[in-house]
Amino acid sequence: MRSHRLILWLGLLALYAATAWIGGLVALVVVVIASAFFVLRLRRALAPTIRCPAGHTVPTYGRFECSVCRAQTMGSAWRCDWCGARFGHISCPTCGLSCGSPLGG
Ligand SMILES: [Zn+2]
Ligand SMILES: [Zn+2]
Repeated sequence: MRSHRLILWLGLLALYAATAWIGGLVALVVVVIASAFFVLRLRRALAPTIRCPAGHTVPTYGRFECSVCRAQTMGSAWRCDWCGARFGHISCPTCGLSCGSPLGG
């Protein structure tokens, strides 16, 4: 009875040793996919313009007024250089629709 249990444990151990790399592989694939998505989002966030839901070109770099501290800034639309406020969305200058930050604010 006791030896049977030992064999069972050894079997489970062998199974774990044989399949542990799958967990590592899955983790690796998840990390690679997540970083690929992050790079894509970063590229979109760093792009000088984005598209509003109606298809207008919206500049994400230029002159903006911070809605928190009212500072007039020349820079990224997603972050105020003065107070450090981050903005999840900006308004399309053409139609006024909100455009979400590719980084999710
Ligand atoms: Zn500000
Ligand atoms: Zn628009």
